[in-house]
Amino acid sequence: STAYKPLATGVPSAAATTTTAKKEKIVPPSPPLTIRDRERGWTYARVGFLGEGGFARVYEVVDQHGERRAVKVVAKESIRTKKNKTKLWAEIKLHQMLSHPNIVRFDDCFEDDENVYMVLELCDNGSLMDLLRRRKRYTEPEVRYILVQLIAACQYMHQTNVIHRDLKLGNLFLDGKMDVKVGDFGLAALIEKPGDRKKTICGTPNYIAPEVLFDTANGHSFEVDVWSVGVILYTLLIGKPPFQTKDVKAIYKRIKENRYEFPPDKQISDSARDLIMAILNPNPDKRPTLEAILAHTFFHDGPFPPLIPATANDEAPNFS
Ligand code: ADP
Repeated sequence: STAYKPLATGVPSAAATTTTAKKEKIVPPSPPLTIRDRERGWTYARVGFLGEGGFARVYEVVDQHGERRAVKVVAKESIRTKKNKTKLWAEIKLHQMLSHPNIVRFDDCFEDDENVYMVLELCDNGSLMDLLRRRKRYTEPEVRYILVQLIAACQYMHQTNVIHRDLKLGNLFLDGKMDVKVGDFGLAALIEKPGDRKKTICGTPNYIAPEVLFDTANGHSFEVDVWSVGVILYTLLIGKPPFQTKDVKAIYKRIKENRYEFPPDKQISDSARDLIMAILNPNPDKRPTLEAILAHTFFHDGPFPPLIPATANDEAPNFS
């Protein structure tokens, strides 16, 4: 996530940060240069630093076959409380269950005296947030391409009874081919019985569905991910999240009132606007399903690129 980095878009960093209990920031020593999974006899050579989130630091490594991967390292020192341990085991358990082309692959997990290590697929081109900072906005053809992949990942997660609960640009990664990979299952929840509802208030302020904040008695379910898809769609096309303001309380007020605008200087197509308005329905039961989103005219209303070129990292590609 983007927890400790200031945002170039003028977004207060609190608004881009995953909300959970207050985190103590402990700066642990670096993991060893050669990281070993002793049980399997696998080794990973640490070659670079990729980023950090709430509890984890993420490094680029090369495995014993010369394949590049990412390793997410969590210092045991930082998960001393029972609550934090439970959260990390939940993240590992859920992420390990999932296998889909649009979800960051989970390859290996082990520990030593200092750390817990999660070996993940390397996403070479960073997060969609990194790209938005450089590009300011995405084109509609790119957004079609990205959304189809994001929704495929969501359909798979929901069929597997997993709600991600923290879908946002900083948790959507791009691999070397510029394909989308959903990552960071730190807030994901498993729906164990049909109809089960979740009651924990969690997520990232800009992306939280209204029922998470304001219908705590009834709880929330899979529709919270659909809401986040709507926020992501708006953010990619307009360049900033729909309910963005100076402080978190004001963001929640806007979410409660369903108050967002389409700035006249940031032209988007009528079909894109129509889809955003349909998804950002305050009533979770009236929100479109993932299938209904894919059937929307937005996806047939202009070019659908066969891929996103790597040049998109620096400038808007031309698909016409
Ligand atoms: P946390 O769960 O603590 O928020 P994240 O999973 O969001 O941690 O990772 C923190 C940062 O590490 C990300 O913002 C990103 O820059 C980088 N990162 C995480 N996973 C990968 C990956 N699979 N490939 C490349 N970079 C990654």
